[in-house]
Amino acid sequence: MKVFMVTDMEGVAGVVSFTQQSYPDGKYYEQAKKLETAEVNAAVDGLRDAGVDEILVWDGHGAGGISFEDLHPAAKLLHGRPSPPWSRLNEVIAQYDVCVMVGQHARAGVATGNQNHTQSSQTVDYYKLNGKYIGEIGQIALYFGAFGLPLIFLSGEEDACREAEDLVPGMTTVAVKQGLGRGSAISLSAQEARRLICLGIKTAIDKQRADPIPPLVWDGPFVLEKRYFHTDTADGASSQPNVERVDSQTVRLRSDDIRQIIYK
Ligand SMILES: [Zn+2]
Repeated sequence: MKVFMVTDMEGVAGVVSFTQQSYPDGKYYEQAKKLETAEVNAAVDGLRDAGVDEILVWDGHGAGGISFEDLHPAAKLLHGRPSPPWSRLNEVIAQYDVCVMVGQHARAGVATGNQNHTQSSQTVDYYKLNGKYIGEIGQIALYFGAFGLPLIFLSGEEDACREAEDLVPGMTTVAVKQGLGRGSAISLSAQEARRLICLGIKTAIDKQRADPIPPLVWDGPFVLEKRYFHTDTADGASSQPNVERVDSQTVRLRSDDIRQIIYK
């Protein structure tokens, strides 16, 4: 089994603050990268325990969340900004069998979700796909699902786990912190978080071999509504082709192919 691991920083145990930790000018950004990398490495250990030998780690955090020199020797790293063109990334995704997520946070607007946001923590109010609120987990599950990869494991903040289970019933999740607000949480110790991730991801692989979870595929056509906090962001979005302006802060995109709109 070949595993594509999508990683982020805001759902890592001990990383609780945008301004001090997950923004690149934060005082403790380097520490946050080390915490994230250790959780990623625990996941790689669990995958190795399950007999997985091909693991690609995608550094999904805005300015980069992986300490390269600390990365597990069994993993390869896909990194760099701007992200590669989707056409090239699609060729990579298609080489893998399943998708897993480590360090994930809840979608924008979940009151208890520590560091909750969808894509931009500073501009996006919400995304709604066919009337249902979605966040980054839904984007990943549906995009990778379109390539035949099921999302089978997620670790991160507790609300992110609930969000994932709602999208993909039966998938394995590991909550490493319980959000109390956007800027606060109760974290497990770093050691305990890593222990549970290692065990949880191994369980996810074992379960997938015994009773596979299918890729997440919704019926189209698709309507994606994106609401921003400010009108200038909506101005920028609505200057793109095939984007309809709904009101001063909201735009709408339509397509029969989820891949054409979910990251537009
Ligand atoms: Zn992030």
